[in-house]
Amino acid sequence: MKADQHAESPYGIHRVMHDIKRRRLDVLRVTDLTPRMRRITVGGAELAGFLSLGADDHIKLLFATTPEEQAALETMTLGAKGDGPKPAMRDYTPRRIDLQAGELDIDFVLHGDGPASTWAAQAAPGQSLYIGGPRSSNIVPDSFDSYLLIGDETAIPAIARRLEELPAGRRAIAVIEIEDASERQPLLSAADVEVIWVERHSAQLTDVVSQLTLPAGTLYSWVATEASLSRKLRRILLDEHKVDDQALKVAGYWRVEGDDEE
Ligand SMILES: Cc1cc2nc3c(=O)[nH]c(=O)nc-3n(C[C@H](O)[C@H](O)[C@H](O)COP(=O)(O)OP(=O)(O)OC[C@H]3O[C@@H](n4cnc5c(N)ncnc54)[C@H](O)[C@@H]3O)c2cc1C
Repeated sequence: MKADQHAESPYGIHRVMHDIKRRRLDVLRVTDLTPRMRRITVGGAELAGFLSLGADDHIKLLFATTPEEQAALETMTLGAKGDGPKPAMRDYTPRRIDLQAGELDIDFVLHGDGPASTWAAQAAPGQSLYIGGPRSSNIVPDSFDSYLLIGDETAIPAIARRLEELPAGRRAIAVIEIEDASERQPLLSAADVEVIWVERHSAQLTDVVSQLTLPAGTLYSWVATEASLSRKLRRILLDEHKVDDQALKVAGYWRVEGDDEE
């Protein structure tokens, strides 16, 4: 584990790098959290030493669809360059890690076709899941007065982790776009939290964010939604709310097909 000296910020936000390891884990349990969100608990001997220090860390999940890809999966070194068959890789948040119990929870949005969502829809105890990473962790101090966390269902695991890590005396506003009310999840925190659930067919996330009244004091802002929506939300936060871009992280967590703009 090494600190990334280039990523220092006036707020103490910094990145810690990890050695990447490929792990073959066993599916232990499958739990439906909501109609569209499925928790898959994995574990096994290879979970030993798994380290995830940041609430929005991600791991790569590896999915083989051919015997050649499966063979590559068994032997590949993550991060190494090279030709040949490569399994599909998708990013997911380590939602909960309990090394004593030997368990890692990963929460999947069941959005339809796609190697990860399709796998999650049929997952059952006894199956294997190959993972790699996390490659790094973004460490955000818990010393901001307030935290603004904006996301869709794919961001709920990271938002839930951040809220669980915040101490009492902090304030957080979570604005979360969901399909409908059945997708609400309990979000636990010692901090003073306001959760605004935005049902995507009833309201626009951009309008809701535009109309927010942000608290005074230091603010850390974080956005993770579909890539083009995240770009719009970034502009609203910078242009309308004048948030400090040194305390802002915006990510595209998935991409509508055909939207290739960077
Ligand atoms: C850092 C990071 C962390 C993430 N953590 C999580 C997590 O914890 N849980 C989680 O569920 N997702 C998470 N995601 C999002 C996830 O990686 C993407 O949704 C991914 O595209 C799913 O892969 P797939 O194989 O199911 O579908 P793909 O093969 O990537 O896509 C197939 C089709 O489905 C569409 N699609 C993909 N995702 C969605 C969606 N959410 N809703 C509607 N349509 C979609 C695509 O536009 C495409 O048309 C994270 C992404 C990032 C970058």
